[in-house]
Amino acid sequence: MRIPNLIDGRITNPIGDKWLDVYAPASGHVYASLAESDSEDVEAAVVAAEKAFPGWSNTTIAERSAILMKIAAAIESNLDLLAEAESKDNGKPITLAMKVDIPRAAENFRFFAHAITQFSSESHESIGLQTINYTLRQSVGIVGCISPWNLPLYLFTWKIAPALAAGNCVIAKPSEITPVTANILGKLCLEAGLPKGVLNIINGSGAYAGQAIISHPKIKAISFTGGTKTGAQIAATAAPLFKKLSLELGGKNPNIIFADCDYDKMLKTTLRSSFSNQGQICLCGSRIFVERSIYNQFKTDLVKAVKSLKVGNPSDSSTDIGALVSLAHKDKVKSYIDLASQEGGAVLCGGESVSVPDLERGYYLSPCVIEVKSNSCRLNQEEIFGPVVTLMPFDSEEEALNLANEVPYGLSASIWTNHLKRSMRMSEKLQSGIVWVNTWMQRDLRTPFGGMKDSGVGREGGLEALRFFTEAKNICINYSE
Ligand code: NAD
Repeated sequence: MRIPNLIDGRITNPIGDKWLDVYAPASGHVYASLAESDSEDVEAAVVAAEKAFPGWSNTTIAERSAILMKIAAAIESNLDLLAEAESKDNGKPITLAMKVDIPRAAENFRFFAHAITQFSSESHESIGLQTINYTLRQSVGIVGCISPWNLPLYLFTWKIAPALAAGNCVIAKPSEITPVTANILGKLCLEAGLPKGVLNIINGSGAYAGQAIISHPKIKAISFTGGTKTGAQIAATAAPLFKKLSLELGGKNPNIIFADCDYDKMLKTTLRSSFSNQGQICLCGSRIFVERSIYNQFKTDLVKAVKSLKVGNPSDSSTDIGALVSLAHKDKVKSYIDLASQEGGAVLCGGESVSVPDLERGYYLSPCVIEVKSNSCRLNQEEIFGPVVTLMPFDSEEEALNLANEVPYGLSASIWTNHLKRSMRMSEKLQSGIVWVNTWMQRDLRTPFGGMKDSGVGREGGLEALRFFTEAKNICINYSE
């Protein structure tokens, strides 16, 4: 299978005719070649987007909304195809792709199809001065959307749906590790009536295709989701070009468990928040802090539950943990597990390569729980982004708060307690963009989404995303004689 680019409504091979291998993580085999695009391909996409922009930005809200709704419906009617492609490309269990990734991609389009009809701007009357100000929120122009491999179609659509709804033309780049569903989506968008040149998909590596997008002077805004180091590099390139930037970056999220919580619900959710998608979700709770009075009980129960998770073929519906996304990533995760003994930690379970019958070259790792001695160790300070969680006890609310906040990241946090005032005090003081109380990853798409500290800059989601993908212009009219 070849995965070229989508430029000006046409499937287009990369100008330099260079191709990258795409691996199926479940089997470890190459199964596709991907266009390795560079600045020439990005230039062609910019030319197409420039041509399409006047028409698309002047298309009525009702028409834009109707096209986005058709795209949502097309994603839904291709659920099986897209879920199978996502699972094969990423290694995630097919059940997760069917229940979460693909439905959410459709929901992203449906949500922004509605949201744009409710997007309004302000007017300010200067009383006594016969002056009125009103705000125009106009499309930015050509915008760049760059997404990672962990939730490929889910995050790709999370960016392009609001960008398109707000009347922009988009140059989008999925991760070179998981490009397949974005490629299918490109075709569905054209079939749904999205005019040519409005969505251009450029494939390839970050170093070439990604860098060409972020450094192109005509691409006026960049919405990026990925690692913190890449985010810093993107900011360094884009800032002197005065681009609007939204950076959704890494996390090292605390999961804080008090003795007074609803224990069974907490344990079940903690299993999910630790290991869903092989722990490769930016919102996974990777540092678990437990009140000392229930620490030993929790440790025993968690380890027992983790040992019952089935690691296996992602296409098997009974699989809980599929393959990690790549061999390089598996090696990185493994290197952190190997650090445990050097840092005085104890591996309580998992962390071993698993050989799945008939898929012996796949990238499988058993889910791992590590008890650490201190929050300052690398295992607790650096993002591992795999099926690994650490455990530590705490004695007081204040100590839990300090442990949670003593980390460079600030994406999300979970608190488990039935003490209302404590949950509110903690929520106020936690340094993170999202706080979940007695739940995890319960998303309402109207809410602002993003991180503090090294987890990012800016917010997406709901009207925040539409604000990001528009320029606010103030018009001031004096109507005195
Ligand atoms: P990554 O930073 O390696 O790559 C992300 C994307 O950026 C890819 O498409 C890649 O090709 C591109 N890229 C790489 N270098 C680039 C450059 N110099 N210029 C432009 N584009 C470039 O991240 P990844 O390994 O794909 O994803 C994992 C990371 O993403 C984790 O750190 C995870 O926490 C983070 N993430 C964050 C969120 C969030 O919402 N905050 C969500 C999901 C994943």
